[in-house]
Order: sequence, then structure tokens, then C-alpha cells
Amino acid sequence: MLKRRACRKVTMGDDRVGRVSIGGDAPVSVQSMCSVYTHDVEACLAEIHKLADAGADVVRVAVPERKDTEALIEIMKHTPVPIVADVHFHYKRALEAVAAGIHKIRLNPGNISDRDQVNEVIDACKEAGIPIRIGVNEGSIIERKDKQKRMSELGKYFEGHRSGHLLAIMIAKLEEYIDIFHDRDFRDVVISAKSMDATLVIDAYTEIAKRFEYPLHLGVTHAGTRETGSIRSIAALGTLLSNGIGDTIRISYASDPVYEVEDGVELLCALDKRERTGIELIACPTCGRIQVDLFTLVEEVKKTLENDISVPMKVAVMGCVVNGPGEAEGADVAVFAGNKRGIIYVQGERVANVPEEEILDRLLVECTALEDKINRGEAKLGQKNVEIIPPDPIGELGSGADKIASGDVEQITIGES
Ligand code: SF4
Repeated sequence: MLKRRACRKVTMGDDRVGRVSIGGDAPVSVQSMCSVYTHDVEACLAEIHKLADAGADVVRVAVPERKDTEALIEIMKHTPVPIVADVHFHYKRALEAVAAGIHKIRLNPGNISDRDQVNEVIDACKEAGIPIRIGVNEGSIIERKDKQKRMSELGKYFEGHRSGHLLAIMIAKLEEYIDIFHDRDFRDVVISAKSMDATLVIDAYTEIAKRFEYPLHLGVTHAGTRETGSIRSIAALGTLLSNGIGDTIRISYASDPVYEVEDGVELLCALDKRERTGIELIACPTCGRIQVDLFTLVEEVKKTLENDISVPMKVAVMGCVVNGPGEAEGADVAVFAGNKRGIIYVQGERVANVPEEEILDRLLVECTALEDKINRGEAKLGQKNVEIIPPDPIGELGSGADKIASGDVEQITIGES
């Protein structure tokens, strides 16, 4: 992991919802966007609450019509997190959103480019003390009538790059647009430059990070369903974040935005940029040694523990003894399977050996008991009570399968318990 890039910091929010900063020394935040109509106040607020509960620090809403900015007045009274108004084509929507008390505006240079209009929005945001995100998107950045001409003019700056012309246009457009903000002495700016091409996203933000002092909002746009979108997003955002680039992230899917938040939070936790608030589940990848229906078990464990456990304990679910003892040692709670049974360890200590059908219930009992002990201050996460001596996979167990198949998992030597 490279050191985080130094940049300016902008802050949004108010006394009621609290404040979220982007850039500087602020933690990387997670954003998402409502998928319901903003003018449907009840549905919009319900979704904002759902996203906030899933871990979103900031939520963006679309305001294509006057009725949407009117709805913001009510939404701003009840939102639990700062709200951003996403403005395209109609600069007046931005002015109305500011008047309604919005916490941040997003402008698209591709469709609001009139200097006087941009100046009006800048002045309103300056007066209200709120930041503006300049969000260029590959799809809306190119003025279509002179596309070919601009591509050939600017493309030479990035010769040899697969998408050099697009990269050049995105950067040129940003420079041009930011000049308007500088002329107004407005620096409460966040930048984004999204594309559906993960490699272009990586290159665009890498270039932008070198050229601008502003915090960066990372995202892969039009990424598709959760299946493909997560791969594109994690490839691009994970690369950039591990290179120290990125101050807030939005993963986007053509799906329930709660998944965007869940996956954004998981990405930050995986990169050690956010502390977990719930369980960290480790599961074996499965192979021909598997001794229980692990796919079902893991899904059930995830669902059950996510709902019922609220301390960030590490829980391992392993299909056999080969990696079981190692994981039992590293995890706070671990189960590893053998001959349709599960051996459960809590902080390195063997506490149960139960039939497959009882694994889930017993795991929940053990996790809840550990959570209670942690809350009473009688145990700490990551604590280990006994040393586990893993079985020798060659000498004692061979592949592990023979031993397990013998039917008595208790015969396996796993330290003292
Ligand atoms: S823990 Fe066992 S079943 Fe799971 S992948 Fe490893 S060897 Fe295979």
C-alpha cells in the first residue's frame, strides 16, 4: 500500500446529520445514490435510511425536475447523512437545491458548461458554504459535433495509450472547468472522472491525482450488474486506493444500491481503510476434501451472524481439518468440518463437536457468548487462549481425507483442549 496522496479537504453536512469530510486526513468515505424518485419523499427517505444503515456516509439524489428540488426541503429535515444533489442540464436545479439546504452539489461539465450559469451555481454554493463535485463521465464529456477533431488534437498527449484520446479529453475538460472555479476563488471542489472501462478509470485518476490538488471521488460508471460491476469496480478502485489515490468511493451497479454500499464498505475494510462493525467471515474455497455442505453453511452463517452479532469478530468456516486448525487459531470463532460434524473453537479453545445440522445454532450460541464477554470486558478480539499445534498434513494426516473418512474426527490431534 502506498502512502495516501496529499490533497485539500472539503467538508459537508450540518449540526443535525453531522459532518463528513473528503480528502486531507479524513477517512475514505462510502457513497451511494438513491434509485427511487426524489419527489417521492417517503420512498426516498426510506432508501436513504437503508443506505445509511448499510454504511453509507453520504447519499446522492437525482434532481431532474423542480418537484425533486422541492422535495429536498422535507428530505433535508429527516436524512440521517449528508445529501448531494446530482444536477445535469438544468443549472437552476442546483440553485434550488442550495436554497433547499443541500449539503453538496454535483455538476457535470459535459452538460452544464455555460460560464454564467456555472458562476451562478458557484456563487450560491460559496454563500451557503457547500462543496461542489465536478464529475466528468466518459459518456457525456465529448462534444459530439467535433468529437473526431478534438480526439486527434488532444490524443497526441497520450500517444500509445489504449484510450489516450479519451483521457486527454477528460483532463482537458476538467482543467477548463476548474478554471471557472478558480476565477471565482472557489476551492471547495471534489473531482471525479468515471468510465465503464476499469483501466481507463485507473489511468484517468492516476493522471488527475498528479495534476490537481482536490480530493477525488472514485467510481466506475455503467459497471453493470453486481456480478460484473463488482469485478470492474474492485479492480479499478482497489488499485487506486492501494496506490494512495481516492478520498471517497461510489461503487455502482444496475441493482439495489444497498449492495453498492455493502461492497464499498467491504472494499475499505479489506484494504484496512475502515474498521469493521460486524463479523469478518473467512470461509475455505472448498475442494475434494470437503466434509459438510459448506456452501449452504457459509451462506447461513453469514446471514445469521450479520444480523445477530455486532462486534467485529473474525469467524472461520472451514470444510475439513487441513486448514481448520490454522484458521481456528487465527479466528475468534472457528468451525472446521469432518465426517458430517463440526468442531468449534473459540479463541483457540475447542468448545464443541456437533453434528452438521447443529453447527449453525451452536456457532451462534458461541459467537453470542463471546460477544457478551467482550461487551463485559472479559475477553478481547484477537485474543488466543491456547496454542494449537496443527496436524502434520503429510506425516499424520496425509491429504486429510483418509483420516476424516475414518469417521472419528476426535482422533485428530489438535493440541490441548
Ligand atoms: S479447508 Fe479443507 S475442504 Fe476447504 S479448501 Fe482447504 S483442504 Fe479443501
